[in-house]
Amino acid sequence: MIHVVFFCSEAVPFAKTGGMADVCGALPLALEKLGARVTVFMPLYSAIDQKKHRIHKSQPSFAQTTVGKSVQVYLVEHHQFYHRDGLYGTSYGDYRDNLERFGFFCSRGLEILRENDMKADIIHCHDWQTALVPVYLKTRHAHDRFYSDMSSVLTIHNLAFQGVFPREQFGFTGLEGKYFNSQGFEFYGQINLLKAGIFYSDYLTTVSPQYAREIQTQEFGWGLEGVLRSRKENLWGILNGIDDTFWDPQNDPLIEAPYSEENLTGKVRAKAGLQQACGFDTDAEVPVLSFIGRLAQQKGIDIMVPALEGILSRHQAQVVILGVGEERYHRMFGQLSKHFPRNVSVHLGFDEGLAHKIYAGSDIFLMPSNYEPCGLSQMISLRYGTIPVVYHTGGLADTVTSFEHQGNGFVFNQYNTLALSEAIRQAIQVFHNKALFHSLVKRALKSNFSWEISAGHYLDLYQRNLKTKT
Ligand code: ADP
Repeated sequence: MIHVVFFCSEAVPFAKTGGMADVCGALPLALEKLGARVTVFMPLYSAIDQKKHRIHKSQPSFAQTTVGKSVQVYLVEHHQFYHRDGLYGTSYGDYRDNLERFGFFCSRGLEILRENDMKADIIHCHDWQTALVPVYLKTRHAHDRFYSDMSSVLTIHNLAFQGVFPREQFGFTGLEGKYFNSQGFEFYGQINLLKAGIFYSDYLTTVSPQYAREIQTQEFGWGLEGVLRSRKENLWGILNGIDDTFWDPQNDPLIEAPYSEENLTGKVRAKAGLQQACGFDTDAEVPVLSFIGRLAQQKGIDIMVPALEGILSRHQAQVVILGVGEERYHRMFGQLSKHFPRNVSVHLGFDEGLAHKIYAGSDIFLMPSNYEPCGLSQMISLRYGTIPVVYHTGGLADTVTSFEHQGNGFVFNQYNTLALSEAIRQAIQVFHNKALFHSLVKRALKSNFSWEISAGHYLDLYQRNLKTKT
């Protein structure tokens, strides 16, 4: 049985700031179902509810629990490093000692493996926080028999975050100064942990096939495109899944009534409920457009707000927004709802319950992200039969195809307000063609983005990795 050890800085249900936590929570369970033995290492942050997750202290430097049937989770302790309010920083910025904090985690995790004689076949690392693990395997542990059969995989969840630190901190890696060079850590005179991880890991993955291609270009490469191109033979794009038991219109306690491809009355009720909750006219003939997401530049809000201004001036439509983030976007949405008080409902905050109601109750879901490594919201909206409008990028391009070609949504190819407006206009036009829209909704409800499929691809990759070793 293959033994895969995850090294990650966050995982559901213990600690989460972003999509990496969803992957590191769901993928081990899906791999276990496919017959793999999986162990997870992460830091023991003070924010983790130890009682709730039945975490017990096993040795002075780490605690332990089990998830799924028998996935062992090791939580590495260090009071000074992990007993803080945030995972990576505060609202004023990142913690200054993050290199030390995560460097310690990587070294200590590898030591715990040895101390407990846990042989791993594959060590699967995630983002810059654990990018030192593949480096340690190929440098300080290169001639150590305990580690010599272990292969490494590094997954890049979002290339925008690379773990860049001043050169003076290199000592905290515990490595000799000779490794600070252009074929490793050095990046414009600074330390770049992700860059080193890209050089030293056996295989690289990112969270969608299209993003795997895009990050090799100057437009999306954040300065690492050349390094990534040099590893392209070993770079795979594997789409994330969604938790299809949590996101399930047939069994979702947070929505008005269950529905499915065979019986859509629950969706009709969800729409009426959402319209009421937003103070809109309860009219099934008016399309409800929605957006749920972080209010950040990446999410395309700069082109979406002017597009919606134009659409709402010319068409009958209702718009629901749920999100939280940068102040400037809070103001932009505030203005929009002031201009169209009867047709725009803005909810600035994080609200899981409302998110479910919006996915179920709206007709069209807007996701004009400027770049998107994978994106979960478009998959969730499809699962709820809500038709996405997306920009052709990253994971959006891999999951949404134009309805004109027997696809499941509306895709625009130029990143600007005009192209987005045109795609929304087309979506509204199709919405008014009942038979056509109905078939689109049915097709969307058939989508399958379960983790099982992704886990199968990861297993293929692990196995290939093992073969190349032997
Ligand atoms: P990213 O990881 O870049 O933020 P994704 O589309 O991959 O974007 O995942 C976003 C997830 O967070 C989705 O499950 C979405 O429903 C959820 N989400 C985002 N903003 C909110 C919010 N304000 N309230 C509730 N859920 C939200």
